Amino acid sequence: MKSSRIPGFYNMSVDQRRKLLKDNYDLTDEQMSNLTDNPSLSLDKADNMIENVIGTFELPLGMGLNFVINGNEYTVPMAIEEASVVASASHIAKIVRSAGGFEAESRERLMIGQIQVVGCSNFHEAKQDLLDQKDTLMNAANDAYPSIVKRGGGTRDLDVRILNEDANSTYSQMLVMHIYVDTCDAMGANMINTMAEAIAPIVEEITGGKVYLRILSNYADRSLASAKCVIPPHLLATGDFTGEEVRDGVIHAYEFAASDPYRAVTHNKGIMNGIDPIVIATGNDWRAVEAGAHAYAAKDGQYGSMTRWSRDEAGNLVGEIELPMSVGIVGGATRVHPLAELSLSIMNIESAAELAEVIVSVGLAQNLGALKALATDGIQKGHMALHSRSVAIAGGASGEMIDVIAKKLIDQKEIRVGKAKELVEQYKQ
Ligand code: NDP
Repeated sequence: MKSSRIPGFYNMSVDQRRKLLKDNYDLTDEQMSNLTDNPSLSLDKADNMIENVIGTFELPLGMGLNFVINGNEYTVPMAIEEASVVASASHIAKIVRSAGGFEAESRERLMIGQIQVVGCSNFHEAKQDLLDQKDTLMNAANDAYPSIVKRGGGTRDLDVRILNEDANSTYSQMLVMHIYVDTCDAMGANMINTMAEAIAPIVEEITGGKVYLRILSNYADRSLASAKCVIPPHLLATGDFTGEEVRDGVIHAYEFAASDPYRAVTHNKGIMNGIDPIVIATGNDWRAVEAGAHAYAAKDGQYGSMTRWSRDEAGNLVGEIELPMSVGIVGGATRVHPLAELSLSIMNIESAAELAEVIVSVGLAQNLGALKALATDGIQKGHMALHSRSVAIAGGASGEMIDVIAKKLIDQKEIRVGKAKELVEQYKQ
């Protein structure tokens, strides 16, 4: 197992980083060509993936370093346009590895298919009739996708709810049947939809009602992944702040997010800063993950924090995260986009459950990175310095000029596009 701790990676040239990756992860020339070809996703492939294609849209792909999760080393590919995210994740992962690393778990991986039934003459009887025919319905769903059953997956359970029973409800009364499906290493949206559509006629026959929607639920709360870290305060000390001060600041920051949706949204956006880049880099559906994660943050009735920070009896900072994680290592674009395939190879991921565990760990790290900065120096100091290169480019800098202008922006403490434009004009004279 190669160490994900790669000192000096930040200061290497892109070519040096690529060479190191190739050597460390035994990547083939073909895999490397996917990193160096521009664009890596061929027009031909892209044209077959979506409609009305006119090109491809590239994002920077960086490496999150230092991650130790369940005792395994992970170098994590992150596709993102925002500066400081990769640096912050790697910084926190380094602290957490000194504390023994992240512990992560993905206990159950069941995706949910929903079937909506309206117009039943007696909804309670219809519900009971469906439950009485549970085996028939589950078998019919499996018959619609036999290959997943052969792989060891398939329908695991079924339940039925009645919505809008109150006579004063604004909306129509309806039955909603859920099928719970083990989709193995796929995210499973297409599988679930196929199964739900296949059993809809049987559902109509049993209930005497009319089926409308037959679709996956992105509220994947039967596919939860969790991660935890326990950090002694001395590892958190920074600048003039003691570790205890940082720990307490992080906990207060968490309490703010837990009690105020205005803060929670930004807090959680920071968590998704760590999660989305891996979901994107592995070709997974980040809209599905985003939707599920935010819904889960509101599961207690008020939108709150996706993480929890506390202090244990020994005075350590304890961080925890639990989120629905509907990702796959097969299916969708995971084996179609060449960089998704490469990303999975670099992480040496062997199952969708393992990928989910890595993703939530990085989300937890990202959250601590933001809270640690916010509770100490503030976020701008580090962020704007790293953002300065993008500002220099937005101001018209190119080539060697970028570093010169970026440094001047930092030195003059004015990291903004207007200033960059001025400096670029001066540079050209
Ligand atoms: P696919 O339709 O690509 O199905 C995955 C395929 O992988 C299966 O058909 C299976 O084929 C094959 N497979 C190979 N090995 C395995 C394994 N170990 N475990 C499981 N399957 C395996 O993808 P999904 O069903 O996962 O759907 C994901 C896509 O659906 C994403 O692109 C998503 O954007 C999209 N989507 C999302 C929706 C949503 O979020 N609401 C709605 C609709 C689509 P076989 O068994 O035949 O070999």
